[in-house]
Amino acid sequence: MDVEYIKDQLTFHRDFPKKGIVFLDIFPLLRDPITFETLITHFVHHVTSYTITKSPTRKIDVIVGLDARGFLLGPIIALRLGAAFVPVRKQGKLPGPCVGASYEKEYGVDIFEMQENAIQPGQSVIVIDDLIATGGSARAAGELVAKQGGKTLEYLFIIELMFFRAGTKLDAPAYSIVQSD
Ligand code: IMP
Repeated sequence: MDVEYIKDQLTFHRDFPKKGIVFLDIFPLLRDPITFETLITHFVHHVTSYTITKSPTRKIDVIVGLDARGFLLGPIIALRLGAAFVPVRKQGKLPGPCVGASYEKEYGVDIFEMQENAIQPGQSVIVIDDLIATGGSARAAGELVAKQGGKTLEYLFIIELMFFRAGTKLDAPAYSIVQSD
Protein backbone atom coordinates (compact mmCIF):
# COMPACT_ATOMS: atom_id res chain seq x y z
CA MET A 1 0.00 0.00 0.00
CA ASP A 2 2.78 2.44 0.87
CA VAL A 3 4.44 1.62 -2.47
CA GLU A 4 1.37 2.78 -4.40
CA TYR A 5 1.15 5.85 -2.18
CA ILE A 6 4.78 6.76 -2.95
CA LYS A 7 4.46 5.91 -6.66
CA ASP A 8 1.38 8.09 -7.08
CA GLN A 9 3.25 11.16 -5.92
CA LEU A 10 6.23 10.89 -8.26
CA THR A 11 6.11 13.33 -11.15
CA PHE A 12 7.99 13.44 -14.43
CA HIS A 13 9.25 16.23 -16.64
CA ARG A 14 9.75 15.84 -20.36
CA ASP A 15 12.86 17.28 -22.00
CA PHE A 16 14.72 17.87 -18.72
CA PRO A 17 17.64 18.45 -18.31
CA LYS A 18 17.69 18.33 -22.10
CA LYS A 19 15.52 17.38 -25.05
CA GLY A 20 14.51 13.71 -25.26
CA ILE A 21 15.00 12.95 -21.54
CA VAL A 22 12.06 12.19 -19.26
CA PHE A 23 13.17 13.18 -15.75
CA LEU A 24 11.53 11.52 -12.76
CA ASP A 25 11.18 13.98 -9.89
CA ILE A 26 11.29 12.75 -6.29
CA PHE A 27 10.96 16.19 -4.67
CA PRO A 28 7.12 16.02 -4.39
CA LEU A 29 7.66 13.07 -2.00
CA LEU A 30 9.67 15.29 0.33
CA ARG A 31 7.23 18.18 0.15
CA ASP A 32 4.54 16.26 2.03
CA PRO A 33 5.70 15.24 5.54
CA ILE A 34 3.48 12.12 5.62
CA THR A 35 4.84 10.89 2.30
CA PHE A 36 8.41 11.66 3.38
CA GLU A 37 7.86 9.75 6.62
CA THR A 38 6.31 6.84 4.67
CA LEU A 39 9.33 6.74 2.39
CA ILE A 40 11.88 6.73 5.22
CA THR A 41 9.88 4.19 7.25
CA HIS A 42 9.66 1.92 4.19
CA PHE A 43 13.46 1.93 3.79
CA VAL A 44 14.10 1.47 7.53
CA HIS A 45 11.63 -1.41 7.72
CA HIS A 46 13.26 -3.09 4.71
CA VAL A 47 16.75 -2.72 6.22
CA THR A 48 15.81 -3.88 9.72
CA SER A 49 13.78 -6.86 8.50
CA TYR A 50 15.98 -7.98 5.58
CA THR A 51 19.34 -6.27 4.95
CA ILE A 52 20.47 -6.47 8.57
CA THR A 53 20.30 -10.28 8.46
CA LYS A 54 23.20 -10.16 5.94
CA SER A 55 25.44 -8.35 8.45
CA PRO A 56 27.71 -10.59 10.56
CA THR A 57 27.15 -8.27 13.56
CA ARG A 58 23.42 -7.74 12.81
CA LYS A 59 24.20 -4.05 12.59
CA ILE A 60 24.53 -1.57 9.73
CA ASP A 61 27.64 0.49 10.40
CA VAL A 62 27.56 3.03 7.58
CA ILE A 63 25.05 4.54 5.16
CA VAL A 64 26.79 5.95 2.10
CA GLY A 65 24.77 8.64 0.27
CA LEU A 66 25.44 9.68 -3.32
CA ASP A 67 25.75 13.29 -4.46
CA ALA A 68 23.23 14.92 -4.41
CA ARG A 69 19.81 13.39 -3.70
CA GLY A 70 21.32 10.53 -1.67
CA PHE A 71 22.16 13.27 0.87
CA LEU A 72 18.45 13.90 1.46
CA LEU A 73 17.66 10.30 2.41
CA GLY A 74 20.89 8.82 3.77
CA PRO A 75 21.40 10.89 6.94
CA ILE A 76 17.82 10.34 8.15
CA ILE A 77 18.03 6.57 7.62
CA ALA A 78 21.48 6.52 9.27
CA LEU A 79 20.11 8.26 12.38
CA ARG A 80 17.17 5.84 12.61
CA LEU A 81 19.59 2.88 12.41
CA GLY A 82 22.25 4.35 14.69
CA ALA A 83 24.70 4.20 11.79
CA ALA A 84 27.28 6.65 10.45
CA PHE A 85 26.56 8.70 7.35
CA VAL A 86 29.30 9.08 4.73
CA PRO A 87 28.89 11.23 1.61
CA VAL A 88 30.22 10.40 -1.85
CA ARG A 89 30.82 13.59 -3.82
CA LYS A 90 32.07 14.68 -7.20
CA GLN A 91 35.84 15.14 -7.36
CA GLY A 92 37.24 18.25 -5.67
CA LYS A 93 34.31 18.86 -3.27
CA LEU A 94 35.54 17.00 -0.19
CA PRO A 95 38.41 18.32 2.00
CA GLY A 96 41.45 16.26 3.00
CA PRO A 97 42.79 13.03 1.54
CA CYS A 98 40.22 11.14 -0.53
CA VAL A 99 39.89 7.90 -2.43
CA GLY A 100 38.45 8.13 -5.94
CA ALA A 101 36.63 6.01 -8.51
CA SER A 102 35.67 6.96 -12.05
CA TYR A 103 32.36 6.26 -13.75
CA GLU A 104 30.96 6.77 -17.22
CA LYS A 105 28.48 9.51 -17.86
CA GLU A 106 26.57 10.10 -21.06
CA TYR A 107 29.45 12.24 -22.31
CA GLY A 108 32.82 11.29 -20.89
CA VAL A 109 33.95 10.19 -17.48
CA ASP A 110 33.36 11.64 -14.01
CA ILE A 111 35.07 10.91 -10.70
CA PHE A 112 33.44 10.26 -7.33
CA GLU A 113 35.35 10.68 -4.06
CA MET A 114 35.03 9.62 -0.44
CA GLN A 115 37.15 10.89 2.46
CA GLU A 116 39.92 8.48 3.39
CA ASN A 117 39.20 6.35 6.48
CA ALA A 118 35.50 7.31 6.43
CA ILE A 119 34.82 3.56 6.43
CA GLN A 120 36.75 1.07 8.55
CA PRO A 121 37.73 -2.37 7.22
CA GLY A 122 34.99 -4.93 7.80
CA GLN A 123 32.17 -2.44 8.33
CA SER A 124 28.71 -3.25 6.94
CA VAL A 125 27.59 -0.61 4.48
CA ILE A 126 24.42 0.37 2.60
CA VAL A 127 24.64 2.69 -0.41
CA ILE A 128 21.65 4.94 -1.15
CA ASP A 129 20.58 7.21 -4.00
CA ASP A 130 17.26 8.41 -5.37
CA LEU A 131 17.42 6.57 -8.70
CA ILE A 132 19.47 4.01 -10.59
CA ALA A 133 19.68 4.19 -14.37
CA THR A 134 22.86 2.81 -16.00
CA GLY A 135 24.26 1.99 -12.54
CA GLY A 136 27.55 3.80 -13.25
CA SER A 137 27.39 6.06 -10.20
CA ALA A 138 26.26 3.29 -7.83
CA ARG A 139 29.06 1.03 -9.11
CA ALA A 140 31.67 3.77 -8.47
CA ALA A 141 30.32 4.27 -4.93
CA GLY A 142 30.57 0.51 -4.33
CA GLU A 143 34.18 0.64 -5.52
CA LEU A 144 34.97 3.36 -2.98
CA VAL A 145 33.44 1.27 -0.18
CA ALA A 146 35.50 -1.76 -1.28
CA LYS A 147 38.70 0.34 -1.50
CA GLN A 148 38.28 1.24 2.19
CA GLY A 149 37.69 -2.40 3.13
CA GLY A 150 33.95 -2.01 3.76
CA LYS A 151 31.35 -4.57 2.73
CA THR A 152 28.34 -3.27 0.78
CA LEU A 153 25.33 -5.34 1.83
CA GLU A 154 22.80 -3.63 -0.41
CA TYR A 155 22.06 -0.66 -2.67
CA LEU A 156 18.83 1.26 -1.99
CA PHE A 157 16.94 3.43 -4.46
CA ILE A 158 13.51 5.00 -4.58
CA ILE A 159 13.34 4.23 -8.32
CA GLU A 160 15.01 1.75 -10.62
CA LEU A 161 14.79 2.37 -14.38
CA MET A 162 14.37 -1.26 -15.46
CA PHE A 163 15.40 -0.63 -19.07
CA PHE A 164 19.09 -0.64 -18.05
CA ARG A 165 18.90 -3.80 -15.90
CA ALA A 166 21.69 -2.26 -13.79
CA GLY A 167 20.40 -3.42 -10.41
CA THR A 168 21.48 -6.98 -11.13
CA LYS A 169 25.00 -5.96 -12.17
CA LEU A 170 26.22 -4.45 -8.88
CA ASP A 171 28.44 -6.21 -6.31
CA ALA A 172 25.47 -6.52 -3.91
CA PRO A 173 21.68 -6.74 -4.35
CA ALA A 174 19.75 -3.61 -5.32
CA TYR A 175 16.41 -2.76 -3.70
CA SER A 176 14.06 -0.19 -5.23
CA ILE A 177 10.61 0.86 -4.02
CA VAL A 178 9.36 1.76 -7.51
CA GLN A 179 10.34 0.06 -10.75
CA SER A 180 9.86 2.20 -13.84
CA ASP A 181 10.17 1.39 -17.58
P1 IMP B 1 23.27 6.21 -13.35
O1 IMP B 1 24.67 6.48 -12.86
O2 IMP B 1 23.19 6.16 -14.85
O3 IMP B 1 22.65 5.01 -12.69
O4 IMP B 1 22.38 7.47 -12.99
C1 IMP B 1 21.90 7.67 -11.70
C2 IMP B 1 22.18 9.07 -11.25
O5 IMP B 1 21.62 10.01 -12.14
C3 IMP B 1 21.57 9.31 -9.89
O6 IMP B 1 22.46 10.04 -9.07
C4 IMP B 1 20.30 10.08 -10.18
O7 IMP B 1 20.08 11.07 -9.19
C5 IMP B 1 20.55 10.71 -11.54
N1 IMP B 1 19.38 10.58 -12.42
C6 IMP B 1 19.35 10.07 -13.66
N2 IMP B 1 18.10 10.13 -14.19
C7 IMP B 1 17.33 10.69 -13.26
C8 IMP B 1 15.90 11.00 -13.20
O8 IMP B 1 15.10 10.76 -14.11
N3 IMP B 1 15.48 11.54 -12.03
C9 IMP B 1 16.30 11.78 -10.99
N4 IMP B 1 17.61 11.51 -11.04
C10 IMP B 1 18.12 10.97 -12.14
